[in-house]
Amino acid sequence: MNHVKKPDNKPLLIYVAIVIVAMLMINALLVPAINNQHVREVDYSSFLSMVEDKNVSKAQLNNDYITFEDKEGNYYKTTTFNDPDLVNRLNDAGVAFGRVITETNPIVAFLLSWILPLVIFYVIGMLLSRMMIKRMGGGAGGGLGGNPMMSFGKSNAKVYVPSTTSIKFKDVAGEEEAKQLLQELVQYLKDPKKYADIGAKCPKGALLVGPPGTGKTLLAKAIAGEANVPFFSIAGSEFVEMFVGMGASKVRDLFDQAAKNAPCIVFIDEIDTIGKKRDGASAIGGNDEREQTLNQLLTEMDGFDASKGVIILGATNRPEVLDPALLRPGRFDRRIPVELPDLQGRIDILKVHSKDVKMADNVDFSSIARTASGTSGAELANIVNEAALRAVRQGRRFVTQEDLQESIEVVIAGYQKKSRVLSTKEKLIVSYHEIGHAMVAAYQTNSAPVQKITIIPRTNGALGYTLQVDEGDKFLLSKEEMLNRIATFTGGRCAEELIFHSITTGASNDIEQATRFARAMITQYGMDDDFGMVAMSTQSNMYLGGDQQLACSPETAKKIDDAVVKVVKEQHDKAYAILEEHQDKLHELAKYLYDHETITGEEFMKILLAKPETVDSTAEEVIGASETENQEVNSSI
Ligand code: ADP
Ligand code: MG
Ligand code: ZN
Repeated sequence: MNHVKKPDNKPLLIYVAIVIVAMLMINALLVPAINNQHVREVDYSSFLSMVEDKNVSKAQLNNDYITFEDKEGNYYKTTTFNDPDLVNRLNDAGVAFGRVITETNPIVAFLLSWILPLVIFYVIGMLLSRMMIKRMGGGAGGGLGGNPMMSFGKSNAKVYVPSTTSIKFKDVAGEEEAKQLLQELVQYLKDPKKYADIGAKCPKGALLVGPPGTGKTLLAKAIAGEANVPFFSIAGSEFVEMFVGMGASKVRDLFDQAAKNAPCIVFIDEIDTIGKKRDGASAIGGNDEREQTLNQLLTEMDGFDASKGVIILGATNRPEVLDPALLRPGRFDRRIPVELPDLQGRIDILKVHSKDVKMADNVDFSSIARTASGTSGAELANIVNEAALRAVRQGRRFVTQEDLQESIEVVIAGYQKKSRVLSTKEKLIVSYHEIGHAMVAAYQTNSAPVQKITIIPRTNGALGYTLQVDEGDKFLLSKEEMLNRIATFTGGRCAEELIFHSITTGASNDIEQATRFARAMITQYGMDDDFGMVAMSTQSNMYLGGDQQLACSPETAKKIDDAVVKVVKEQHDKAYAILEEHQDKLHELAKYLYDHETITGEEFMKILLAKPETVDSTAEEVIGASETENQEVNSSI
């Protein structure tokens, strides 16, 4: 679909050649004509002897050289000499001689020295500017016509012509709501009259919002494939130009083109690049250019008559930074959420992407999808591809369940780092650490079952991890579940403290996560008794990791910090107590993990439940416990 034109360097070479040829020509014209014929250079004495022999017919005396012709018509050249007798000698020998007054016609000389350079510079300038327009994408929009100089700053929105091979809605798995909302737009474009008859106005614009990799761009392309109308696609960053005012003129041109081609769709990807809120700061030497571009976009969207059948689509993963003016009715008035896929969505996406991949018969997509919870469509596509690559690496002709399982971990935690060799002591610490996580999770009710524990280092720096996978998707977490998760995060460090009576740097990621959870409980979810249901932070970038910004007085911030410390400390103590109580199991499991390096959830549970006398009633509940959120990867150790 994207046929981006490769900038070719051929024209440049041709221009260089032209310039060189032109320069050679000037050079040739400026030198006296005689030089162009075959001239033999001789010394002065031979000249004199030739004169004496009456062999010279004509001579031309110049300031620093003499050219002459012999009887046979050959040309010669010699240097002048301070020779007062020369004139007499030539006279005696009957040589016709003279001095050239002007070597070239004055008019010609004037043309050559003044007009020709100007002409050459003009031509070079023209060629360069034309090349620049080409580079900047002017004229790529198709059918621009006219003087090429005038197309400076044309938008380079690509026109996608409907074709049979293009992407359809069925290539976008999951995202049913988004598809349904977009379907209506497609219907409108196919039959605007039906809507006009009843007096309904089509929304002018729709904004696709969602985290990266969820298929926003893909959906836009699918609309182009479904609607069978021209599709103009441009990325927000393409409006940001070298010259001030270019962005605005590109917007104008884009909408001109769209108006000519209605009904059609205009798609502006990553619209936040130009649609950021205008604020006071930008007036002071800020990004005035961007503001102009945005203003032009707003103006054009207002000026548009929706009944003509032009729909403007935008996509962004930072809707909160968009200027409110862009979002008001009449502009991007319809917001289409494109969220991370749910379990069924993930299964469907895996199926779409493994359509052309040879899979073993026993591959179970639903188990893969469950493990890969929280991943985006792009990551799932990547998982399938990693699995296929792994199969090839291992010389197989099809992809197995194991390939897929391993590639999830590759996508989440990076490749296995076989070259990193842990010392025996380190390996032992990591074993206890990971088992600590797993046991704390297992002895609490409402924790996701452990699926895998490994102490094989990963390229992302994790020395091992414990993978917990939930049965289904989980959208609500109770306070107890949140606390349990924090306890699980601290479990690794607790095991180190309990067994080695010292602590390591391996828990940094656990600490970060535990703190994040505790803070969110208090400032976001109103789960703290002292603070109650008061939001004390605002969230920005909700689709890009979600930065929390405290919105409270410094005194409250201090109290929050104290409360966070308290929550984490309590959970740490709880986890420590669990491990202390089941220390024998901790030893047994850590040894088993140390020997095997990777163990499955079943192996783990089997050992955990092995001796009935040490397994109390809590452990029985463990088997049925399945209800915590999707999956936690306790990386760092
Ligand atoms: P973004 O939302 O960041 O624009 P893209 O549309 O560029 O994401 O998605 C990147 C790739 O991920 C797509 O080309 C596609 O291969 C895959 N992908 C993402 N979401 C889906 C989906 N819902 N169904 C199928 N493939 C998807
Ligand atoms: Mg995109
Ligand atoms: Zn850990």
